[in-house]
Amino acid sequence: MTTDRYVWQPTNDEIAQQFDIAPDRVVRFDQNTSPYPTDWAPSAAGEALTGLNEYPAASYKPLREAAAAYAGVDASQVVPGAGVDELILLSARALLSPGDRAVGYTPTYPLYRIATEQQGAVFSESPISAPEPDEGAALTWLCVPNNPTGERLDDATISRILDRSAGIVVIDAAYAEFTGDRWGAWIDRYDNLLVLQTLSKGFGLAGARVGYAFGHLSLIDAIDRIRPPGSISTVSVKLAISALANSQRMRHTVDRVIVERERLSGLLAALGLDVWPSEANFVLAKVGTDAAALAAGLMAEGLVVREFPHIPQLRDHLRFTVRSTLDNDRLIETIERIRP
Ligand code: PMP
Repeated sequence: MTTDRYVWQPTNDEIAQQFDIAPDRVVRFDQNTSPYPTDWAPSAAGEALTGLNEYPAASYKPLREAAAAYAGVDASQVVPGAGVDELILLSARALLSPGDRAVGYTPTYPLYRIATEQQGAVFSESPISAPEPDEGAALTWLCVPNNPTGERLDDATISRILDRSAGIVVIDAAYAEFTGDRWGAWIDRYDNLLVLQTLSKGFGLAGARVGYAFGHLSLIDAIDRIRPPGSISTVSVKLAISALANSQRMRHTVDRVIVERERLSGLLAALGLDVWPSEANFVLAKVGTDAAALAAGLMAEGLVVREFPHIPQLRDHLRFTVRSTLDNDRLIETIERIRP
């Protein structure tokens, strides 16, 4: 069976070379990362940097404990992974068999379909605008808040889906820090719930590649059995533990991103774009039928945005990550200048 493959964006160096601009003029408005450089990381990495001749400690116990303490669950209910992406692929491998059906509420994160189809399972779609529980699905993918629309399904809808699902429900809570969601209590109520969280978004550590899953012991065990033995580097473990232990720093930066999100949304709306309300660190906007031309024009200036040529209802939309005030102003000024 052929499946879609995940398409990687061109890198900063590739873009700089193609458009003959300085690499430091390239700004990623497409990857929903943090605008804050990790200037605290060198001191936090400390002696991890000089012990790289050895493998990471295979059980990742200190990382499980740090994630558990942050999430408000027991360390036995946590399994770490190299980002939520690895945990999505592992969840599909652990929980889906060929011929099974998984449901996703679309438009949503494309890796759910890819992970499902890689297992020889069938991905069926239900609209996120009217999400109906799918009782017969072996696995339900829920993105809360949802990428790329930015909306957060309400608790009553999520509960209804969990109550009615005979299969497993995976909540991808990659953007949980932006809504303040605390999913720990939910796994006590639902033994068919697996929650995925990451250090990449609110904690601003996308380059370190650390995420974690929590849920019922049987689900955690199913993933633990098949995870690669050492996919999270010693340095990444150290940075993740430091970040999780210092959640005030995360809170502070997340609060600033939220203020900036509202400002950016207002500026985009003032340009006449139709802006979706967002609960995350990105904004989706309807820019008109010239979305591809606008994205190309922005890229030629070093401003990389996300477009959706393969999603019919979003073909005339672009998604913008909330970046620094300076970078967001540059985005607005450039849109204003190049838009026909
Ligand atoms: N899930 C969603 C919904 C995302 O938007 C992203 C990042 N683009 C990921 C997962 C990947 O997260 P990680 O960096 O933890 O692999």
